[in-house]
Amino acid sequence: MALVNEHFLKLPNNYLFADIAKKVNAFKVTHPKADIISLGIGDVTQPLCPAVVEAMHKAADEMGTASGFHGYGPEQGYDFLREAILKNDFLPRGIHLDIDEIFVNDGAKSDTGNIQELIRWDNSIGVTDPIYPVYIDSNVMIGRAGTVEDGRWSNVVYMHCNAENGFVPQIPKRRVDVIYLCYPNNPTGMVITREELRKWVNYALKNDTLIFYDAAYQAYIQDDSIPHSIYEIRGARRCAIEFHSYSKTAGFTGVRCGYTVVPKDLTAATLTGERIPLNPLWYRRQCTKFNGISYISQRAAEAIYSPEGKQQVKQTIDYYMRNARLMLGSLRKLGFEVYGGENAPYIWMRTPNGSSSWQFFEELLYGAGVVCTPGVGFGPAGEGYVRFTAFGSKEKTEEALTRIENWTKK
Ligand SMILES: *Cc1c(COP(=O)(O)O)cnc(C)c1O
Repeated sequence: MALVNEHFLKLPNNYLFADIAKKVNAFKVTHPKADIISLGIGDVTQPLCPAVVEAMHKAADEMGTASGFHGYGPEQGYDFLREAILKNDFLPRGIHLDIDEIFVNDGAKSDTGNIQELIRWDNSIGVTDPIYPVYIDSNVMIGRAGTVEDGRWSNVVYMHCNAENGFVPQIPKRRVDVIYLCYPNNPTGMVITREELRKWVNYALKNDTLIFYDAAYQAYIQDDSIPHSIYEIRGARRCAIEFHSYSKTAGFTGVRCGYTVVPKDLTAATLTGERIPLNPLWYRRQCTKFNGISYISQRAAEAIYSPEGKQQVKQTIDYYMRNARLMLGSLRKLGFEVYGGENAPYIWMRTPNGSSSWQFFEELLYGAGVVCTPGVGFGPAGEGYVRFTAFGSKEKTEEALTRIENWTKK
């Protein structure tokens, strides 16, 4: 008899975006003529930039020649991309990494989910609340999260981030083995200052805690004082693994490419206290379970770092950030309490009059024909908030804001 991994059965069977689609469909059935604008889903809308498309064409042509054909590549990625990463994402910030500390991947979701394979099943984990659901669900699947009650897992420490504490997570009272941090944050759109991040690195070094740092939105940072990488903080290479993604940086949600940094100084303990470096473990894991990213995608990613690529990517980010500014301005003017959106493509809004996230979601859908994401879908502390994304087109974003304005004036 094949026994199923019963941990899967503990997962909440509602998937946030499926629930949203169901409610939107119900609305469409009763309002067949309504034209709905979604400021909900976290996918980008603007096309790939020309430098990237050109690099993909060129790589595809190479693949069609005997001399330019590329079969299996190195599991950790081609050196041309890893070198471009070191030279552009880290050296200018004073961070010196070795090429074999970079592992090119098919996006940050896979690796933020897979990385927990490196640690024992009984480590405790700490997360900010609200949170990107992958961090918890991937731990639930192997039984590390414990049992669930009222949306909270027994072996997970939740660090609340809300308007009352300025969305700054407080160091937990109970010691935790592993902490997930994501900055700039999805869903709140808030950032962490260098001083706050230093507190976490110092906590991790003192308590032998491992930090998993998701930097998927670092390219959206506008304020020069905000760190783009946890390795800007001294000591972080002894306690942190960092995840990057080209999905939001350069519209790679459908291309698939990113990378994970596992420093060679990083170790975790055995039960007898021996220190084991995690870099060779992750290398071994990748060689066993992963066969690399396509040559074409890696050439596409490399093109982001060319002078034209950099400029074009920045243009698209500026386009989304203009949407964000527009949304912040309009919503604030209408009297809504809004956060984020200054260094991230997300706006986190408190629902008015104490409505729940889902109540407000429906009111906005039926009143203005605009879709947002209910904050409670990102964790218990997200109740009473909704998320708007700046990833729409300028025209749709403006139209949505006009509709919200008309709706609130009714
Ligand atoms: C979008 C996103 C990612 C990136 O996912 P990919 O797999 O690289 O497309 C990672 N982390 C967070 C928090 C995200 O919102």
